[in-house]
Amino acid sequence: MADPRPYKIYAVRYAHHDRAAHENFIGGDVHEGPMPLDYYVWAIVGDARVFVLDTGFSAETAAVRKRQHLRDPGEGLKAIGIDPEAVEDVVISHFHYDHIGNHEPFPKARYHVQDREMAYVTGRHMLHDALRHSFEEADVVQMVRRLYAKRLVFHDGESEVAPGITLHHVGGHTMGLQVMRVWTERGWVVLASDAAHLYANMERALPYPVVFNVADMLAGHATVRRLAQSDAHVIPGHDPLVMDLYPAPTREVQGIVARLDVSPRTRQTA
Ligand SMILES: [Zn+2]
Repeated sequence: MADPRPYKIYAVRYAHHDRAAHENFIGGDVHEGPMPLDYYVWAIVGDARVFVLDTGFSAETAAVRKRQHLRDPGEGLKAIGIDPEAVEDVVISHFHYDHIGNHEPFPKARYHVQDREMAYVTGRHMLHDALRHSFEEADVVQMVRRLYAKRLVFHDGESEVAPGITLHHVGGHTMGLQVMRVWTERGWVVLASDAAHLYANMERALPYPVVFNVADMLAGHATVRRLAQSDAHVIPGHDPLVMDLYPAPTREVQGIVARLDVSPRTRQTA
């Protein structure tokens, strides 16, 4: 069978959080220095269709969560010529506040979610503060409203949403976390979202501390590596290095958007 047509992929950086390295690992070293997080949404652009992965959070939520909001993710998409109002497919990696906020910008979109994530956020586990801390009630309620408006597309495990785009349940960080595998000019790229917050989580084999199931999170590192053409084809969900390793599509969006369907610079690993 012929290869599908390749997609272009863009990471749009919309927020930032300064923190210490040990906050990013179970078993981190308290003597290690700073290791900030960046926050992204991703656009997957084909000949005929545009997919958006995750919708970020709003300036209001940033204030509550004490994160530095850099821009509205929708404005970031517009800067690379994507009109959020025309987007028909939004994939949601998981329902944490930094991935499903900003309810307004996608009036036409269907939302692709995993069965297990919807069950997770509306079931018994949300009685535990430690597990529900990263969810916003308003976001979950919004997702239920979309369900009753028939705007959700449910996936259970692995599915192909278009030629060259598959979704894969990995769990771990949340019960229903999914990753997105995309065919590009350089081969299969995996948008890992929070299956790997940072390159360092995978490379040190240390889980991120916000976690539903540690064993599944560690197995998820292996899954994203298996799905990707190489380790250089795995895109972590919150690593500032992504902006450094991948080029901006235009000079105007330097520091805001990185293009992920082209090869990264070679990285020095510690
Ligand atoms: Zn996240």
